Amino acid sequence: MAIQNDQTAVGIFLECLLSEICRRFGSTMCIAGTSVGTAHHCFTVVQTEHWRSLTYVSGRFFFAYWKAFMTQTHSTASITHTTCPYCGVGCGVTVRQHGNVLSPVSGDIQHPANAGRLCVKGSSLHETVDQIDRLLYPTVLGKRTSWDNSLNLVADKMQQVIHDHGPDAVAIYAAGQILTEDYYVANKLMKGFIGSSNLDTNSRLCMASAVVAHKRAFGSDTVPGCYDDLEEADLLILVGSNAAWAHPILFQRIAAAKQARPEMKVVVIDPRRTATSDLADLQLSLRPGSDALLFNALLCWLSDHDALDHDFIQQHSEGFASTLQAAHDSTPDSLQECAQQLGLDKHDLETFFQWFASTAKTVSVFSQGINQSSSGVDKGNAIINAHLATGRIGKPGATPFSVTGQPNAMGGREVGGLANQLAAHMDFSAPEVDRVRRFWQAPNVATRPGLKAIELFDAVKRGDIKFLWIISTNPLVSMPDADDVKAALARCELVVVSDCMANTDTTAAAHVLLPAASWGEKNGTVTNSERCISRQRSFLSPAGEAKPDWWILAQVAQRLGFEKAFDYQHPAEIFDEYSRLTGFENNGERDLDLSGLSGLSRDQYDAMAPTQWPVNRQYPQGRKRFFDDQRFYTPSQKAQFIAITAALPASRHQDGSLIMNTGRVRDHWHTMTRTAKSARLAQHIREPYVDIHPDDAKRLTLVDGALARISNHRGKILLRTNITTNQRAGEIFVPMHWTSRYASAARMGVLIDKSCDPFSGQPELKYTGVEAEPFPTAWQGMILSRHDLGAVPCDYWVYGLNDGCHGYEIGGNQPLEQIQDWAQQQLPDAEWLTLHDPDTQHMRLLAIVDQQLALVLFVHQDQAIGTRQWLVEQFAQTSLTITERKALLAGRPLEGVVDQGRIVCSCFGIGENTIRDAIRSGCHSADQLGDTLKCGTNCGSCVPELKALIQDTHSECS
Ligand code: SF4
Repeated sequence: MAIQNDQTAVGIFLECLLSEICRRFGSTMCIAGTSVGTAHHCFTVVQTEHWRSLTYVSGRFFFAYWKAFMTQTHSTASITHTTCPYCGVGCGVTVRQHGNVLSPVSGDIQHPANAGRLCVKGSSLHETVDQIDRLLYPTVLGKRTSWDNSLNLVADKMQQVIHDHGPDAVAIYAAGQILTEDYYVANKLMKGFIGSSNLDTNSRLCMASAVVAHKRAFGSDTVPGCYDDLEEADLLILVGSNAAWAHPILFQRIAAAKQARPEMKVVVIDPRRTATSDLADLQLSLRPGSDALLFNALLCWLSDHDALDHDFIQQHSEGFASTLQAAHDSTPDSLQECAQQLGLDKHDLETFFQWFASTAKTVSVFSQGINQSSSGVDKGNAIINAHLATGRIGKPGATPFSVTGQPNAMGGREVGGLANQLAAHMDFSAPEVDRVRRFWQAPNVATRPGLKAIELFDAVKRGDIKFLWIISTNPLVSMPDADDVKAALARCELVVVSDCMANTDTTAAAHVLLPAASWGEKNGTVTNSERCISRQRSFLSPAGEAKPDWWILAQVAQRLGFEKAFDYQHPAEIFDEYSRLTGFENNGERDLDLSGLSGLSRDQYDAMAPTQWPVNRQYPQGRKRFFDDQRFYTPSQKAQFIAITAALPASRHQDGSLIMNTGRVRDHWHTMTRTAKSARLAQHIREPYVDIHPDDAKRLTLVDGALARISNHRGKILLRTNITTNQRAGEIFVPMHWTSRYASAARMGVLIDKSCDPFSGQPELKYTGVEAEPFPTAWQGMILSRHDLGAVPCDYWVYGLNDGCHGYEIGGNQPLEQIQDWAQQQLPDAEWLTLHDPDTQHMRLLAIVDQQLALVLFVHQDQAIGTRQWLVEQFAQTSLTITERKALLAGRPLEGVVDQGRIVCSCFGIGENTIRDAIRSGCHSADQLGDTLKCGTNCGSCVPELKALIQDTHSECS
């Protein structure tokens, strides 16, 4: 099928239709010969397996897009190709605007990472670009001021601190969310001109261990492979990665590859069963922290079973003998004993070893489950060792592959945004310092590493760092021992926060707030997990007086006297300088070389297509795989085996009898500042929760669905209990996202110890000792409100946006009258309808303003509430009759309306109750559910949950 789009109504319609078809069938449709320009689009679809469904989709989208086109009064659509600001997959996003009207975003079919697909987070991006909660103006001590005043104040304070206490008394803590150009300017300012390496980033919490593991093994921080390798592998090992939720499009690419080649095997190595396990041929739910033991044991087994690549070991590597010896020394001789130490079944362990030994095309993907550990670097090297020993690196479908969590963690580590890097993959050797000094013509280049995140905040607390600038991150939530970080900031002489959001835990601790441009307003580049540099392009005017981070940093640098070195007018100039630095005296000695991208005009920079680095004379179109030439960046040019003595994490049982793991949920991102703006994202998982094994729950008298207090001597949090056998006994899982803005007490960081990896400084976020106990409440319930109410004065509350109203889950032991008074103070002019039975702690309040529903507050001693979804829908009513008001107070629809329950498919808003009904009516597969309800047919993120619901509903029925 060929479609020509010449910007006519039909052309635009067909383009939109094709985009939706790609989203619907991305996993099974092959697209070739695609070219997209602003005036002429040509798509050729050469194969699809779903013609019948295609007809259905065509019908569905025809009317939607035709209507959209007609209502846009002949204005010309502007199309922007940009990148998603969430995870490290780095998907391309296409944004269409007709005047001021933003259409739903779609996946960029040209982008190599996603080829048109988007997960539910990415496809909700257009719902998150409002100005609610945005930081719009510079403020000092809470008072609005001008940019000039605030920048002068920041520069003056920096100058005074440097003068009085030296350059190491100032620090910047940045984020994997900022763009490469922002990072470059921050790094140049700190390490070139201020003369301190105290620039660290929240990427320290993400993949710092992988960086060190790469450098130890390859002599450079090089990701050897590419996403295509994950599809080409015959054995794909996912270690410490819930890719289905944390890297959904990558997971879907793997799932599609497996569907196309069912013989492809997937092994999931993770203490808990997750949505990713749905794809696994073999799940190894090993003891937390025992990954290095597993891969050491694998190395021994490969050696014992003559499954090594001796040619590669001899010709292209060093250190094998001592590495094998160390592995033998710390691995039990008997497989049975080894399996016991790992907490695995012996047969499963042997199966894994046999599959690895017999499969040349093996890819090992590792992520935060490996990195966020007190031995994360060793774990990474244990994985890489197994690949080097079998020569599986630099080949199609055969590589170790570290996946980054954040959208631009890679860009940050490329420019040198970690405290233990200097710049552009150069560290602190004398020749490297000299080279960077000459390139930057910098007066004061740092000559040694700075403080890593935990050390940095400790130095703030000690008073050694007196000026701290936090850029685009929320350490009061994400850092270990987060309340200690809060205490540190309270002691700092000046805390500057530049952020796009006004009301985070960290902005509340700042003296100076600088409004930063956000996604859609920013212009620059990011690098994803496969080294692919993509443009993030602006399509919106900055909110209020917000400015790009690079501009803010350059303005401060100029005020510090470095006008010439920071006289940037456009991010293209920064990218040009950065790319020239990567090529400066490189001569093939450094992996990072973007010299082929230097000298771009602004137009060329604007038009830059996604490219995998390096881009230089040898690889003018970029390079898919490193080490295909067996040449590494070590002095000998050989890969290095690293001897690993496998060590389990130190016991945390002095902190509590349970081990707490932390991680992401499907539809939220980091500290929710963006994803909480989307009602459909907020509805998938409404509350922070604790996953706990039934045996532990029984022992601790925890009840499924009731509240639990998770605590240790550092703090306590309140969460909803979820009893599940996916969790190993003795261990719990808690999501990382909820902050003080969104919940009364759910910042998991307050519980976590400061233990970290000795080489990378990456904190151990997945192994914390805690206790769990029931948190009894006199009443629980919910509030729905037309207006955002902020914090609710009760023990437990969680905020979540609904379609048309704000929602709160609440619970507590306060007198109900207190809650009633508070609610009525929110709407003093409302007409109130009330029902109150003190014996059952049952209270129902309705507020009507201008004939419309303004607030619903339902509580009961056992959390019995009304028909939630129906109540939410009543906020759209423009005028309520007496009968309807009575029905509202009863919490039930008048007749025949059912509550569809918790939203499972966020794309189509399909709830759990509706899905279970369909299963009971005969849908026995995710495909059948998709055909009946459409759930799971867009981004596919919910398919693992659909399968779990099918299983669960069937077991209920049998
Ligand atoms: Fe964005 Fe990651 Fe989803 Fe892609 S997979 S759309 S980068 S969140």
